[in-house]
Amino acid sequence: MRTVPDFPEPGVLFRDLNPLFADAEAVRVVIDAMAAGLPEDVDVIAPVEARGFLLGGGLSIAMGVGMVPVRKPGKLPVVADRVDYSLEYGTASLELPAGVLRPGQRVAVVDDVLATGGTVAAVCELVERAGAEVAVVSVVLELPALGGRSLLGGRNVLALQSIT
Ligand code: 5GP
Repeated sequence: MRTVPDFPEPGVLFRDLNPLFADAEAVRVVIDAMAAGLPEDVDVIAPVEARGFLLGGGLSIAMGVGMVPVRKPGKLPVVADRVDYSLEYGTASLELPAGVLRPGQRVAVVDDVLATGGTVAAVCELVERAGAEVAVVSVVLELPALGGRSLLGGRNVLALQSIT
């Protein structure tokens, strides 16, 4: 991965994982490591649009579980619920598709980067409001200086790497 200064706004140090995604061996290592870290009783994964989707497909196949994609507004034909939240650089909303996540299911929330935690916290809220349970939050990279875990209320967070 590489660090890009002043993206998407001045003052933000953006960690760009595209070099990782372009490398077949790196993708395999990352998917295998994420799959190995997840609890065995996970029923479904919830990858977050858009970069979480780059991990979701491989992880779904590696673990033998399905996916409930969490999407940006206006993309889903039928919406169960929506959460608005704050980002490191602005505000955003996420939506849960209707009729696919079942109450009681144990969910692995999947994204590329945990920064301020707003995105993953919003997904956890969607999952829990649907009556399902967040078994784990799994990310490739955590930026601990941004304090993301403090928004996650002690939920189980697995990061393959952290950069201060
Ligand atoms: P948070 O909500 O934790 O502040 O930000 C995490 C979300 O924004 C993730 O969906 C992630 O894709 C994106 N994001 C925030 N900062 C970065 C970054 O430095 N690099 C990458 N690749 N994504 C980021």
